[in-house]
Amino acid sequence: MLDEVQSAAGGLQALQKSPRMPVLFLGHGSPMNAIGDNPFRRSWQALGAEFGKSLPRPQLVLCVSAHWITRGWHLTGMAQPKTIHDFGGFPQELFDQQFPAPGAPAVARQIAAGISTPKVGLDDSEWGYDHGTWSVLKPMFPQADIPVLQLSMDYSRPPAEHFAIGQQLRALRQRGVLIVGSGNIVHNLRATRREASAMQAYDWAFEFDKRIGALLETGALGELAEFQKLGQLAQLAHPTHDHYLPLLYAAGAVDAKEPVRFFNTSFQSASISMRSVVWG
Ligand code: ZN
Repeated sequence: MLDEVQSAAGGLQALQKSPRMPVLFLGHGSPMNAIGDNPFRRSWQALGAEFGKSLPRPQLVLCVSAHWITRGWHLTGMAQPKTIHDFGGFPQELFDQQFPAPGAPAVARQIAAGISTPKVGLDDSEWGYDHGTWSVLKPMFPQADIPVLQLSMDYSRPPAEHFAIGQQLRALRQRGVLIVGSGNIVHNLRATRREASAMQAYDWAFEFDKRIGALLETGALGELAEFQKLGQLAQLAHPTHDHYLPLLYAAGAVDAKEPVRFFNTSFQSASISMRSVVWG
């Protein structure tokens, strides 16, 4: 059956019914977490190893990364998306990283067509996998044999719209799609303190992380889109909120009653929360 739908020439053609896939939000932090031995990368490797064992193996990964901001919304529609090294000032080893997971143009068209509001376009040439996607997916799926799509975000639109798109992605979980949001629950690069340990952070970073953690734990997911009501606390946690928005896609795709578990509940450079979430 799988051979019929995933021919080598044309890639994945259609999604099959599946047990309900979990949903992930992954704090990615520094691009350097993608290489070398560190606790974050180890946790991504361990999580990836659960798929095909205690968790169903995905037919497709749909990733919303903090690093692809567009006017309107777009899905990657190329057969072989390129690996994008969208950062500067890091060692050559990081620029040498490749994540050759295939795309899935036919499925991208189907998924885009299934989102009624807003209209989602297909990107055939511009993007690929930015480091928000590959830094976490490469450790999880080192064989790069599961097709991956990336969905962009229109930063100019209100948070509730991002959450609403997540809700429209929910049904894909019964068709083998692993939905991944990749960002950070606290992300203030202006305040980083490199010497800080994983358990050290600013008071406002602890506080925002705790409040969002409580909403996640109690299933008050709709309230996540209202984070700006936290005023200065939200401003400090997210001077720009590009790293927060992917959480809204992931949370939109889950049922409030689903079990939730956290991992990597620590900080990087005192102003980046690495808290990551598994639902389902
Ligand atoms: Zn980032």
